[in-house]
Amino acid sequence: MDLNQFLSERTRLMKASEIRELLKWITENVISFGGGMPDPSSFPVKEIMEITRDVVSTKADKALQYGATGGVAELKEELIKFMGKVGIKVDGPESVIITVGSQEALDIIGRLFINPGDYVITESPTYLAALQAFRIYGPRIIGIPMDEEGLKVDILEETLKKISDDGKVKFVYVIPTGQNPTGITMSRERRKALLEVASKYDVLIIEDDPYGYIYFGDGEPPDRLKAMDGEGRVIYLSTFSKIAAPGLRLGWVAASREVIRWFELAKQSIDLHTSTLNQYIAAELLKRGVIERNIPRIKEIYRTKRDLMLQALGEYMPDSVSWTKPSAGMFIWLTVPENIDTGEMLNVAIRKYGVAYVPGKSFYPNEERRNDMRLNFTYPTPQQIFEGIKRLSLAIREYIQ
Ligand SMILES: *Cc1c(COP(=O)(O)O)cnc(C)c1O
Repeated sequence: MDLNQFLSERTRLMKASEIRELLKWITENVISFGGGMPDPSSFPVKEIMEITRDVVSTKADKALQYGATGGVAELKEELIKFMGKVGIKVDGPESVIITVGSQEALDIIGRLFINPGDYVITESPTYLAALQAFRIYGPRIIGIPMDEEGLKVDILEETLKKISDDGKVKFVYVIPTGQNPTGITMSRERRKALLEVASKYDVLIIEDDPYGYIYFGDGEPPDRLKAMDGEGRVIYLSTFSKIAAPGLRLGWVAASREVIRWFELAKQSIDLHTSTLNQYIAAELLKRGVIERNIPRIKEIYRTKRDLMLQALGEYMPDSVSWTKPSAGMFIWLTVPENIDTGEMLNVAIRKYGVAYVPGKSFYPNEERRNDMRLNFTYPTPQQIFEGIKRLSLAIREYIQ
């Protein structure tokens, strides 16, 4: 039987993640910087145990029952307070929806906004899982380059000028703080300029903010786009994955009431609602101050591991290699000389040197560059970071010659 004849056009646009394909090669002896996982020691395990017991013993009637599509009211109220502390004001609980991680929100964004052929704009490189979510809906994706201040808004404006005659531009998707994969944080000036350009050309902004609450640079990160938005143009996404634990599969969206109504309609047919049990657990994590107490601990773990990786890179890498110095997020973006294709080098890195990373190519909407890689510093242990970077430098040196 030929299954292909039955697959929808949409299904044909789905592509297996290269990262997942790659994980198959990783054995015990390979040090991997390829994943995108938080340090498990950052999970508030004891507190989640206690809270789960309390929730099930006192609220089973609600926590084990079907719930509203928009989410558990208590959790939405807690999140409104939580966002309020960083200057995000929302128009009541009707402008918030709880999703199954940010990933579900990205898929819903595709459903709600993208017709085949529409333009979608992202940073270049950008979050692989967002590209995958959007691609299913058949957009033309345009990547805008970044520098150390983030998205180059002047190039965005030129691009918008050029393409808006050719088709509808729906949104600009950005990760302003601790960008995945580069670790870059967008400056306040760029954020302002981005809002102005989005307003001038009348496009939506999707602000994906998994890392703003665990910014480990000096002071606080620049204001959220959502906090600076006077027009209701920003659709704000965040998640419990990096401030608590990704296994909870809990994310949230804050936007205008009108946008959230459409989100609810889409979500209804996908999964009715996010796990009520997990939502009640998360509400308690916020209410009891577990998240707030855990955040400084997470920052410390991430900062220490980032410093270690930067130190190892400085010690081992040849002069022709450069990398970012992130103050948020989980990744360092490493650039090798242009003659090296990091995708081709990966097999040798894994099999001969015992180290893995994610080749940069797949993070570019149009796969235009081949000499970068993404390195995760949160999951490996300090020893693995040092040893792994040493091994990686040997692989790169072999290719430079
Ligand atoms: C980790 C991460 C998320 C979180 O996704 P979940 O589905 O909530 O686990 C979202 N966006 C980016 C850019 C990330 O790096």
